[in-house]
Amino acid sequence: MKVAVYKRLNEMAVIDAPMPRAQAGEVVLKVHACGICGSDLHAVQYGFGMSPDTIMGHEFCGEIHEIGAGVSGFRLGDRVAALPFNSCGECDRCKRGMEIHCHKLQGLGLGQLPGAYAEFVACGVRSLFRLPDNVSSRDGAMVEPLSVGLHAVKRSGVGPGDVAVVMGAGPIGLATLTWAKGKGATVVVSEIAAGRAELARKLGADVVVNPREKDPAAQVREMIG
Ligand SMILES: [Zn+2]
Ligand SMILES: [Zn+2]
Repeated sequence: MKVAVYKRLNEMAVIDAPMPRAQAGEVVLKVHACGICGSDLHAVQYGFGMSPDTIMGHEFCGEIHEIGAGVSGFRLGDRVAALPFNSCGECDRCKRGMEIHCHKLQGLGLGQLPGAYAEFVACGVRSLFRLPDNVSSRDGAMVEPLSVGLHAVKRSGVGPGDVAVVMGAGPIGLATLTWAKGKGATVVVSEIAAGRAELARKLGADVVVNPREKDPAAQVREMIG
């Protein structure tokens, strides 16, 4: 299969790699779409300790192509999004639902496990989310970055009547904006780049402030005292 790999600082390449096989508790996905994360750009720029020929890509969606031993609840052809890590499912943290803090956590797409800049990728069944028919595969690849924004908004506890400030309208900031609006908050976005500021407005920001022109803190004070 074809894969896109990190070669050395500021260099990637498309090469041939062996097909992954589904181990116990895993499936192999035929990748439909994979996002390019800001972290991927930084990883290629700075290396992040990745070895040459690391298959990157951790925001992805695909269909189940092979099912490993002990996997139930999924069928060949199911379209799924996957969180980019494998957890053990047995340690105290996994049992508390904090799989991202698993003692045996293995991340996917930044060096530990092969990622989804590939035609096929293996992932743990505990990381899978089935996609409804009305969610395209392209949108399915957004599940991971959107979940980062959702996590932030859940932790903040914002709700109707609250004012939230989102610092920066990159993809994660825009996801955070979307969820905060969904929770009923009034949202101020601070963003320098004109294109990103425009996207923030389109996605429902109540106020977009350019911090080079106006102090976001002053803006919020004006709005809510
Ligand atoms: Zn990412
Ligand atoms: Zn664990």
